[in-house]
Amino acid sequence: MKWSELMGPGPMGRCFWCEKSVSQKPVYALGGSFRPGVEHPPSRDDGYLVKLAMSGNMDTAEVKWVWAIVAGSESEAKKEGFDLLFMLCSEVCGEELKKTLQAEIKSFDSII
Ligand SMILES: [Zn+2]
Repeated sequence: MKWSELMGPGPMGRCFWCEKSVSQKPVYALGGSFRPGVEHPPSRDDGYLVKLAMSGNMDTAEVKWVWAIVAGSESEAKKEGFDLLFMLCSEVCGEELKKTLQAEIKSFDSII
């Protein structure tokens, strides 16, 4: 798995998957945890944004960059067992993201 830390304002207020503005809609969140032993963005006291490179389409080896929040080490998400959070506009985007994450199953332990 590849990742890069984000500079700038990031995707807040937008769906992490389709990048539509979510200011008027309830936000749907998805959490993930890394598989032990896999190289992943380091955990810090405070949460921060990263972009993860997902191999979305195996046929074209196309890479899709997806925003994620790395959960802070003291955060509620971390206490619930999540290393990563994705903020989405709808369940549809959640399903699309899940499908892509499941293609990266070597890196992820669970996605809820
Ligand atoms: Zn969306």
